[in-house]
Amino acid sequence: MDTNYDLDSVIRKVPDFPKQGVLYYDITGILAVPEAFRYCIDRLEALSRGRNIDAIAAIEARGFVFAAPLAERLSLPLILVRKPGKLPNKTYKKRFDLEYGSDMVCVQEVDIVPGTNVLLVDDLIATGGTLQAAAAMFKEHGAHVEGFLGVIGLPFLDYEKNLEGHPVDVLQVYH
Ligand code: AMP
Repeated sequence: MDTNYDLDSVIRKVPDFPKQGVLYYDITGILAVPEAFRYCIDRLEALSRGRNIDAIAAIEARGFVFAAPLAERLSLPLILVRKPGKLPNKTYKKRFDLEYGSDMVCVQEVDIVPGTNVLLVDDLIATGGTLQAAAAMFKEHGAHVEGFLGVIGLPFLDYEKNLEGHPVDVLQVYH
């Protein structure tokens, strides 16, 4: 693997998207450069190897992009955590608070196997609220959360506090 790809150079920063005052970190710049994308998957794989993980859970939508190749490389099942109304089978649901309003994550009941260790993956971890809600859903139905992985981390939004108790690894931090 490329030992030190400069990920920051391909992450596009978009001010005031999707609303005024938010600096949006756009991972499509990573996807546009095959070496950068491969570097991300290599690093995520290296962070996951040797751990006691039974399945990878991916957060819609950009989490899917990174979690899918990771699960394939690790030969692990991939579980999709989606917004309401997208999954065809019976789902568990978890509502969580946003700065304004709330959102919901869903997972198919059949995809949570009690007693298994699940690693949750998203593209970017900001407050950690999305991953925290997804993790709660797995725990409530008997699975264990092995940890959290992200490509980008924004620790100033306090994800470390919200996700405490499990390892959290990210490839690129912004302060
Ligand atoms: P959070 O639940 O606060 O950790 O937010 C994580 C989710 O929101 C991820 O799925 C991200 O894709 C998205 N997100 C939050 N903040 C940003 C940002 N500044 N740039 C890009 N995506 C973001």
